[in-house]
Amino acid sequence: MEHAAAHGGAGEERRATLYVVATPIGNLADISQRALDVLRRVDAVAAEDTRVTRRLLAHYGIATRLIAVHEHNERRAAGQVLALLAAGKSLALTCDAGTPAISDPGALLVAAVRGAGYPVTPVPGPNAAVAALSASGFASPHFLFYGFLPERSAARRRALAALAPLPFTLVFHEAPHRVEACVADLRDGLGGERRIVLARELTKLFETLHECALAEAVEWLAGNALRRKGEFVLIVEGAVGAPAGDEAGRRALEVLLPELPLRQAVDLAARIGGGGKKELYRLALELKKP
Ligand code: SAM
Repeated sequence: MEHAAAHGGAGEERRATLYVVATPIGNLADISQRALDVLRRVDAVAAEDTRVTRRLLAHYGIATRLIAVHEHNERRAAGQVLALLAAGKSLALTCDAGTPAISDPGALLVAAVRGAGYPVTPVPGPNAAVAALSASGFASPHFLFYGFLPERSAARRRALAALAPLPFTLVFHEAPHRVEACVADLRDGLGGERRIVLARELTKLFETLHECALAEAVEWLAGNALRRKGEFVLIVEGAVGAPAGDEAGRRALEVLLPELPLRQAVDLAARIGGGGKKELYRLALELKKP
């Protein structure tokens, strides 16, 4: 297999390459053999927080040099990474937990490296959202990964109004101090009858997956302070009987346009809503007008 030969496990040794390496979201054993091989062999690891990645490396007896690449220095650090790549060095990119660039820094660096013509290779592994979804039991074949909703309730409610008609399982990150308020807004914005799975502290000692109707979720959280502790992924059922055809396409467009290039937003909106692409394209141009 050509692919396996090019990226083959312990023998992997590519110069001037950036490896995007997923690391555990709690349980240190959740790291692939390939990730460990890469972290050991690269010339440097560009880490979101060098202290966190140093602990992981130390656990596995890896002494690779670390450099800091976090959201406040990502552009500057990209220069340092590009200089190393230009010198033929290879690097790994890690974040504190899970997959870099997914609700975490990394995308700017990856874009700079790809833009400069160097290979970027993912080393896949843990991701909190996918882990939670895989254990949710929600059978819909489609999901929308949203990440963090806005922190302020008014903005959060606006975001939820746009998501409410979409027929996809919705996947959110949330911090413990906001989870109760967020779940209350989910209930009000999406309707109390939808099912939610609250996935907390995945792969850790106090891992909890609790499923209930949105109408019951705030009460469940309020019932015990321990239930609000730690890190959360919230999985919510998509809309049932979402509006068909152009109306659903229009709503999808309203959500996607601010986030994506126009053509991509139109393509996705057509697939989501089933509306005609030509009409959606015209509508997108209308919506884009200041
Ligand atoms: N890049 C990460 C990934 O691939 O999973 C996500 C990083 S994001 C900054 C952090 C959020 O991920 C947390 O606020 C929480 O919503 C979620 N998260 C991370 N670890 C988790 C865990 N062990 N259990 C549940 N949620 C977790």
